[in-house]
Amino acid sequence: MPDITLIGTGGMLPMPDRWLTSCYYFHNGHAVLIDCGEGSQVALTEAGCRHNRIDVILLTHLHADHVAGLPGLLLSMGNGGRQQPVTVFMPEGRAKILAGLLAICGGLPFEVRLAELPFDKPYSFTLPELDPMLTFSSLPLQHSERCLGYSLSLARKPEFQPEKAKELQVPVKYWKQLHSGESVQLEDGRTVSPEQVTVPNRPPIKLTYCTDTLPLDEIAEFARGSQLFICEGMYGDEDKKEDMDRKQHMLMQDACRLASRAGAERLWLTHYSPACAAPWLYEEKLRELFPNVSCAKDGMKITLTGD
Ligand SMILES: [Zn+2]
Ligand SMILES: [Zn+2]
Repeated sequence: MPDITLIGTGGMLPMPDRWLTSCYYFHNGHAVLIDCGEGSQVALTEAGCRHNRIDVILLTHLHADHVAGLPGLLLSMGNGGRQQPVTVFMPEGRAKILAGLLAICGGLPFEVRLAELPFDKPYSFTLPELDPMLTFSSLPLQHSERCLGYSLSLARKPEFQPEKAKELQVPVKYWKQLHSGESVQLEDGRTVSPEQVTVPNRPPIKLTYCTDTLPLDEIAEFARGSQLFICEGMYGDEDKKEDMDRKQHMLMQDACRLASRAGAERLWLTHYSPACAAPWLYEEKLRELFPNVSCAKDGMKITLTGD
């Protein structure tokens, strides 16, 4: 089951008590980091997340509050003895700019692979060497810089039903084989197929992360079925709406409405304006729009079990 840690919750600039928004997704020995603003490597350590497990970095866009921490993080990983490659994904047309930023790293003891994702359409892919069950998806957003939303969907094996296996008198030694999708032949000559002892089609465990965008209709569809939707909420005052539309950002209320339309299980707000000193003061009122909303704080963690 994936462990999710929201490393930081700030937008624009880090503050003494608030790191920049970034998310650490850990499953099966591998970590994916989404965004890496200034200071993210310190925030990772404070949250108890290990740098050296990061194999993939997903950048929403190339604004400083989402990427300026990358050279420092990669240098720390190098100092920590990393040798395996790290792949950094970003919107199409931005790899050259990122390569310029990473020039200040000097020589790293591992390869940094830069990969661009389409900006004219939603896109999905898997990285079989990382986890064939995990599908990454990106969605073009609308911001003052090319920006992508991301979702990570972890497919689940059909659930094994011990009581069904017992009913069919299948010895325990065959259970693992059946659960992994293979039919077995029993000593009495009967063949038992996985479908007889499992419950199929459990929905994937899904995380969606969208920040720095207008509240596009497409986001609701993109976040559909998420156990956790992490979304920008710069301010909690509706009178900031016009300003947010002009700057192509979202209010907390926009995020709540999207989460409701998406049928998400829970919403964590992030990317607060430095002017928004106490986001949690809005939480009670926001529950009228989406009951399971949290004004997230740095270091907030959850294990998504899918139950
Ligand atoms: Zn930002
Ligand atoms: Zn931005």
